[in-house]
Amino acid sequence: MKIETLFIDKAVGRNDETEYLISRLKIDPQWVEDSKPVYNFINDTNDPISKAKRTLYITLNKGTIIKACPGTSCYTCCDYTILQSGTFCTMDCSYCILQAYFHPPVLQYFAGLKSLGHDLDKTFCQNKIFRIGTGEYTDSLIWEKVSLLPKFLVETFARQNNCVLELKTKTVNIESLLPLDHNGKTILAWSLNTPDIINSEERGTASLGARLKAAKQAESKGYKLAFHFDPIVIYPGCEIHYKQVIQQIFEMIHPQNIVWISIGTFRFMPKLKQIIEKRFQHSTICYGEFILGLDNKMRYFKPLRINIYKEIISCIKEYAPKVLVYFCMEDEEVWKKCMGFFPEKEGELGHMLNKSAAAHCNLNPSLL
Ligand code: SF4
Repeated sequence: MKIETLFIDKAVGRNDETEYLISRLKIDPQWVEDSKPVYNFINDTNDPISKAKRTLYITLNKGTIIKACPGTSCYTCCDYTILQSGTFCTMDCSYCILQAYFHPPVLQYFAGLKSLGHDLDKTFCQNKIFRIGTGEYTDSLIWEKVSLLPKFLVETFARQNNCVLELKTKTVNIESLLPLDHNGKTILAWSLNTPDIINSEERGTASLGARLKAAKQAESKGYKLAFHFDPIVIYPGCEIHYKQVIQQIFEMIHPQNIVWISIGTFRFMPKLKQIIEKRFQHSTICYGEFILGLDNKMRYFKPLRINIYKEIISCIKEYAPKVLVYFCMEDEEVWKKCMGFFPEKEGELGHMLNKSAAAHCNLNPSLL
């Protein structure tokens, strides 16, 4: 984290959590009544997105902390649950949707481990399996170096049997998590891409080799793992490169420790294109054969998606025939042509994922 300016909402107050954050960040905070000074500070430049990545605002989450993922209309979704621990990110991927999602983007950390603990307790009492992730509006592990949150989550999830926590990252920030008694309830997940895409489009992230090395270390401490190929970017030679990444995974990781692998091709809100053109002038990521999808996002022309998916899926299945591979946001035709089936019934994809989570993470099977 390269934070230069720190604002803290006065409503958060001084406590162990904020003192820890301040001591790790080594910055004198500016205490504020509300978010206005933060927005003004970030907007006072011609590149608020870059400035926001260096400006942290510690505040309270005034909305619902644990909520169902909204998914995307018209594409099969996986019934995920989001734990909103913060927003935005210190890394800088050209394709990051968060650049266009927040106005202005603000790097927020939501303090309040105590109330988060109460909300989690309510979820842990339900007769239902939940897959809960913190990586929808931020990277789950950018916070590991500066906050107590990742450790708190791993230890809290270890004490129950109906929820699995997925921490999704492009970092290698797992050091404080390795010695924890996680009781199998945390999945450490890495978003992966080809070295070409990591080098050209994922500024400030860990290299592919470093991510896989971290995954191997986590595996050696009994953590279950997941991998996400999202976004898959189509470029000349990409099929071979994605297959090389898959080969590297299985040279280092045992298939039985992988709970799931998701795949999804690059898609973007049309307004993201302008941002990419302005902030990543070298990037050619937006100049493929795209069409407007049913969710108003640009997607690769369907035959191109089907082609790359088939290559990737057959390669994964060669190394790990039993690993659960699923699409993030795809339609019936793509599922049938690439996977040979379509999880048609409402909740079917979620059920498949719950079954895999239950089997790998010792969740209560009677809740399936
Ligand atoms: S790591 Fe994820 S959240 Fe961070 S900039 Fe990249 S895409 Fe966005």
